[in-house]
Amino acid sequence: MSHVLAVANQKGGVAKTTTVASLGAALAEQGRRVLLVDIDPQACLTFSLGLDPDDLPMSCHDVLLGRISAGTVVQPTKDGPDLLPATIDLAGCEAVLVQRRGREHALRKALAPLLRSYHDVIIDCPPSLGILTLNGLTAASEVLVPLQPETLAHRGVAQLMDTVYDVQRLTNPKLRVLGVLPTLYDGRTVHARDVLADITGRFGVPLLGPPIPRSVRFAEAPAAGRSALAVAPRSRGAMAYRELAQSLAADWQARDRQVREVG
Ligand code: ADP
Ligand code: MG
Repeated sequence: MSHVLAVANQKGGVAKTTTVASLGAALAEQGRRVLLVDIDPQACLTFSLGLDPDDLPMSCHDVLLGRISAGTVVQPTKDGPDLLPATIDLAGCEAVLVQRRGREHALRKALAPLLRSYHDVIIDCPPSLGILTLNGLTAASEVLVPLQPETLAHRGVAQLMDTVYDVQRLTNPKLRVLGVLPTLYDGRTVHARDVLADITGRFGVPLLGPPIPRSVRFAEAPAAGRSALAVAPRSRGAMAYRELAQSLAADWQARDRQVREVG
């Protein structure tokens, strides 16, 4: 069974893309088959995994518009996961999709034939709550929210949760909030812990962990076209993502077993 995880937060710079790349590499290290999906027109995930978005003849854009099957566009990466890449063309995709019926379901339909080939599919959403993010949330079974614990962070989470409730009501009743992942974390401040306690209490969502510490190795990795797990395998940040991957994979395996037993 494959698990489709959307990584979403409309705020930019909270480590969505870093989380997708690192978690994907960590799950692949465990021997899981992983597909990463870049639906951000800025194509940062694509770039940071070593592909030049300007050189790609086709991308997620063509897939979402139904011009080509997703399988044709998927490429391997050095980090282990496969990637459905983005290009800047995606910026124009929203305008076209908006005029179509079933526009929120384009990604879900495009990914469906690929699901049997992967254990995990992780979608890197853009920093907005527009039609691309709605496609990501509609295609997903779970959503993970990376969050930098700072003052007013709860305001962004409130908007995102409203969007999640809309998606649950309108396009994807099965969507589950996996939880909030503290990123760029400086555990020495009481403030960060207070912000996290406030958010998990306020929205009733789980706190995922361990928190991902702030580390310059993450800023260095994209230029090398590899995830931080390859560039700095023993760093605290890489270890934190490995631990997160282990706990998510254990959770998913337990749930798969339950489903098999019931079925
Ligand atoms: P988003 O996708 O939410 O916009 P990114 O993953 O692109 O966020 O991260 C924003 C910036 O923060 C990038 O320059 C990235 O390298 C850096 N970054 C991400 N995680 C960490 C971390 N744990 N420590 C230090 N820098 C980080
Ligand atoms: Mg990003």
